[in-house]
Amino acid sequence: MITKVKGTQDILPNEIKKWQDLENVIFQVSKLYHFEEIRTPIFENSELFHRGVGDTTDIIKKETYDFLDRGDRSITLRPEGTASVVRTVIENKLYANPNLPLKFYYYGPMFRYERPQKGRQRQFHQFGAEALGSASPLVDAEMIAYSYTLLKALRLKNVSVKINSLGDTSSKETYKEKLTTYLSSKVDTLCTDCQRRYLENPYRVLDCKVDKDSDTLKEAPKPIDYLNDEDKTHFEQVCSYLDGMHIEYVVDKNLVRGLDYYTHTVFELEAALDTLGAQATLGGGGRYNHLFSTLGGPNFPAVGFAFGMERLLLALESLEIKEPTPQIHAFMIMLGDNVKAKALEVILNLRHGGLLIDYDFFDHNLKAQFKQAERQNPKFLLIFGEDEMNKGVINVKNIKTGEQIEVGLNELYTTLITEIQNEQHSCAGHCEECDEDC
Ligand code: AMP
Repeated sequence: MITKVKGTQDILPNEIKKWQDLENVIFQVSKLYHFEEIRTPIFENSELFHRGVGDTTDIIKKETYDFLDRGDRSITLRPEGTASVVRTVIENKLYANPNLPLKFYYYGPMFRYERPQKGRQRQFHQFGAEALGSASPLVDAEMIAYSYTLLKALRLKNVSVKINSLGDTSSKETYKEKLTTYLSSKVDTLCTDCQRRYLENPYRVLDCKVDKDSDTLKEAPKPIDYLNDEDKTHFEQVCSYLDGMHIEYVVDKNLVRGLDYYTHTVFELEAALDTLGAQATLGGGGRYNHLFSTLGGPNFPAVGFAFGMERLLLALESLEIKEPTPQIHAFMIMLGDNVKAKALEVILNLRHGGLLIDYDFFDHNLKAQFKQAERQNPKFLLIFGEDEMNKGVINVKNIKTGEQIEVGLNELYTTLITEIQNEQHSCAGHCEECDEDC
């Protein structure tokens, strides 16, 4: 048997509803924040990620799916979405748009060769957003608010927002020197990966998963303590805007995030939920003021974030949402071969009118067709035999009330629609009749 590749997942039809519900909430919130969707290819020239995300990050060093295509080009399956968005903004000169910042969101599969576990896969899905073209701290606050609203809209509880600032180039340089000096006498205490990271890019030592609780890292100097005045003011403004919106956050001095391109604000959203296991981080992001110039574009400061869809779904499991049984509008029972062509015409017309209709595809006898209908849980049974066909009528049985009426074929659609509308009721808030939030 050929099985799926390690670290990938099939999303089966019985799971698709919760994906679609989650997608709908995300897209609605994105509309509220006035972001538009952008779609970029799933694979890119490897150089984009090597230059953009950074050669010394774990994602690029150890986790990318790189391959040579048949034309000997080095190609990489995208491990994240930001570099591609920046590439397309540069390539299509979208930065020339006077209506700034550009506000885009993206959604789709990402690929990282990681050790698979709960909430960590090799093919996973991210929803992400980028606001491009403004250096204002308003944008940092806006993007944190957008991510926060997403989690609120999903009704997730126990959510915390962590923020930190790395500062811009000069603050980062000052800090890097400080960190290098500090680590120089302690290299031996670091894990083997960090001994290499220390030489290549000491910042990376700060997100080491092995050493994170060691005294060396706990006592290490923190980037936020080395911000120059301008960068400090930027961060204070971000905080004051968040305060203004009453978004609770904690300043986590150890937060650096795993990608090289961040400057100024970085943030993460976590949920302390049992259903998430060890992977409590739902999403995160930050400002990146120089990725455009790194990739050959103009000076174009930006802020972005990304959420892991699989993690959000795990988090949503904590809400114990009662899934209503999916219902089709009607199931057509056909009595005899002679009625089939006419029955199909009736079905097609009902479908064109927006009704969800199903029927039996196995020439089953009457009893078996009723059984099949039961499994599909329709609101109505449409029973159609030769007598009905000759008279131009059909029997409509309301499953809930048990009532059966004969309806002219011409009135069938309106009858069904009226019955369905009569059944739907409006209620403010909690509805006793259906015992769920309407
Ligand atoms: P990053 O692009 O590394 O900042 O990750 C953003 C979010 O994507 C994380 O907070 C996770 O929710 C999700 N994520 C990252 N890597 C994986 C993975 N291998 N499997 C599942 N979700 C992931």
